[in-house]
Amino acid sequence: MDSTQILEKLIAFPTVSRNSNLALVGYVAELLDAHGIDSRIIHSEDGHKANLFATIGPADASGIMLSGHTDVVPVDGQAWTLPPFEMTNRDGKLYGRGTADMKGFVACALAACLKASKMTLRTPLHLALSYDEEIGCIGVRSLIDMLQAAPHRPLLCIVGEPTDMQVATGHKGKLAARALCK
Ligand SMILES: [Zn+2]
Repeated sequence: MDSTQILEKLIAFPTVSRNSNLALVGYVAELLDAHGIDSRIIHSEDGHKANLFATIGPADASGIMLSGHTDVVPVDGQAWTLPPFEMTNRDGKLYGRGTADMKGFVACALAACLKASKMTLRTPLHLALSYDEEIGCIGVRSLIDMLQAAPHRPLLCIVGEPTDMQVATGHKGKLAARALCK
């Protein structure tokens, strides 16, 4: 299965943040399982959403992690001329919610994992998919906790956010404060 075929499937799950992403995570877990890759699903507290983590290759070494979020921003009130939750291939360009941010990367990462499953890797490849990035990077926190407790942490992480096709090696920080006036 190539990345375009996977992307078509991923776009068809309307994983805007108010919806559950469990159907998408289930699809990914099944796809990985069909290629002999075990994945770990980490549910949110209410069980409505989940992160997914998988390792291809040796489990006793640090590896390279490909990471993406499974949620997309809403389409309400936007003038879409094509169905947002259906992939349209027009003149070699793929349209649909999340093609850029960031199911396109998730599809490429999954295709890479499937390819890697047929190889003998010395350095493991990790896949980390999170939920609720668009509403404050909420989902990834339990994934980070899991990695912190793991005996081998990834050597580096490639996050496939759109950056105008340029490699970005850092990201500005963020500080949020809440003021209460009485
Ligand atoms: Zn994004």
